[in-house]
Amino acid sequence: MKDPEVLVIGAGTAGCVVARRVAEQGGKRVMIVEAGPPFPGWPLRVPLASLRLRPWWSWRLESVPQPHLDGRRIPFPMGRVIGGTSSVNAMVAAAGPPADYDAWAAAGNVGWSWADLRPGWERAISGAGTTALSIRRPVHESAFSTAFTRACEEDGLRRIDALTGAEADTCGMFPLFQGPAGRSSAARYLTQVPRGVQLSLRPRTTVRRLIMDGTRAVGIEIGGRRGEAKILASEAVILCAGALQSPHILHKSGIGPAKALAAAGLEVAIDLPGVGQNLQDHAGVPVVVESTLPPPGRPAMWLKSAIEYGLFGTGVMASNCCEAGCFLGKAGMTPDVEVFSHFQTNRHPRSVEFSVVLMHPTSRGTIVPDPDDPWGPPRIDPRILESGKDRSVLNAGVERIRSIIAQPALQRFGLGAEILPGGLSADAFLRGHASAYYHPVGTCRMGTDPLAVVDSRLRVRGTENVWVVDNSIVPTIPAGHTAATALLIGERAADLLTADLGRS
Ligand SMILES: Cc1cc2nc3c(=O)[nH]c(=O)nc-3n(C[C@H](O)[C@H](O)[C@H](O)COP(=O)(O)OP(=O)(O)OC[C@H]3O[C@@H](n4cnc5c(N)ncnc54)[C@H](O)[C@@H]3O)c2cc1C
Repeated sequence: MKDPEVLVIGAGTAGCVVARRVAEQGGKRVMIVEAGPPFPGWPLRVPLASLRLRPWWSWRLESVPQPHLDGRRIPFPMGRVIGGTSSVNAMVAAAGPPADYDAWAAAGNVGWSWADLRPGWERAISGAGTTALSIRRPVHESAFSTAFTRACEEDGLRRIDALTGAEADTCGMFPLFQGPAGRSSAARYLTQVPRGVQLSLRPRTTVRRLIMDGTRAVGIEIGGRRGEAKILASEAVILCAGALQSPHILHKSGIGPAKALAAAGLEVAIDLPGVGQNLQDHAGVPVVVESTLPPPGRPAMWLKSAIEYGLFGTGVMASNCCEAGCFLGKAGMTPDVEVFSHFQTNRHPRSVEFSVVLMHPTSRGTIVPDPDDPWGPPRIDPRILESGKDRSVLNAGVERIRSIIAQPALQRFGLGAEILPGGLSADAFLRGHASAYYHPVGTCRMGTDPLAVVDSRLRVRGTENVWVVDNSIVPTIPAGHTAATALLIGERAADLLTADLGRS
């Protein structure tokens, strides 16, 4: 293939979508450059295996010490493989409430209401052809998941068929990105590309920075800290490196807050103060309780489970480990808190866990270049639970899950003593055990104000031909799980870019 017209940085959840669509619908010559290796097949397809093997295909990013979490560093194991984080995540397909997307449009982002996004979502999950991801009820439903859902009903929640987070006060089984062959990830967009579509993939290639000529990107530099080679692009560069790395690549390209770039010794090409601001994540805590039953995924069961999975595609190996959950808050409204249940944990040989997660955090973090090592990993400071409101909503969620645990359906299941929070005070529990739940968004925010990084067509302000298409552009984090959000963004961006780049 000749030099590409369009370069896509990162074959992640949104990147795979936009690359495929711009090549296919837009008729462009597209190259997608990805730091990680090709999708390895069964190790990531088999749900339970993929959860255990995830570290092999993940970035080892972590936050700076968090002042409200006893100075702990929080890990961010985002995917580093074709399909990005959708290839290593827990497969939950919960796009959240339409109202949370409508809020993006209400903030001035024309074309980003749920009504605008819905056609792309339907194309992503049920469209005909070779790209549609598969969404289904979990193949495996553990006895614990059934008991949890019953206990939620006994506590007054409404059971629904597919728990997508669209409404508070609901419980049930999550829909999962799972098909007949196991995990269904965005990598699917890059397999079975029709003949004639000019889409090439360059795996195991880390992008160092964009090459800027004034306000125009003419290509990228690849290779670790020093930059070993260049790839030129004649029309556009689309950043899809995820919410932790897209702002970092912009910083290294001289696009960002002039003061912070200068402090790190980086040249300033475009002073854009919002790059790396507005970092948001769904923070949460684990409530852990002793269980008298042996865990279904214990090592003694591995051989039997592997044979069952190999023969029928069923059994505990088909489980994503968090099959059932509930969304709490005012009935009919967007939820405040999500709880997902785990039938076993690593924290205690016989225990179950309830992750209690904040849906609308008000704390905001930052990503800045490290002044001592600007070409190394970014300085990630999510400021988890800085806001008192976040702490009190989470504490209320912990009290509610205790009430659900006390219901007969879970008590019959054989739960014992509470291990966490156990005897800890609410404050000590949050400080010692809260974490990010791996849904970082918002660091190249879409908007119309001076701190916005991209406009509503996702073009980086002040540039002619640089776009961001991933969870960085999210103005406010929706409730639910953010792989669906990235797919929605990828599909919407594909329509915008196909129009803006014009057909060649
Ligand atoms: C452990 C875990 C479990 C999760 N579980 C769920 C879940 O069950 N359901 C859900 O909806 N969400 C889940 N999420 C979150 C969700 O998967 C992500 O929010 C979403 O996939 C992010 O999509 P993205 O396109 O923004 O970025 P990504 O999918 O992360 O894609 C970014 C891509 O860019 C590549 N890249 C980065 N830097 C460079 C560079 N310099 N050069 C070249 N390539 C680069 C990366 O390797 C990656 O492939 C989970 C996340 C984690 C970490």
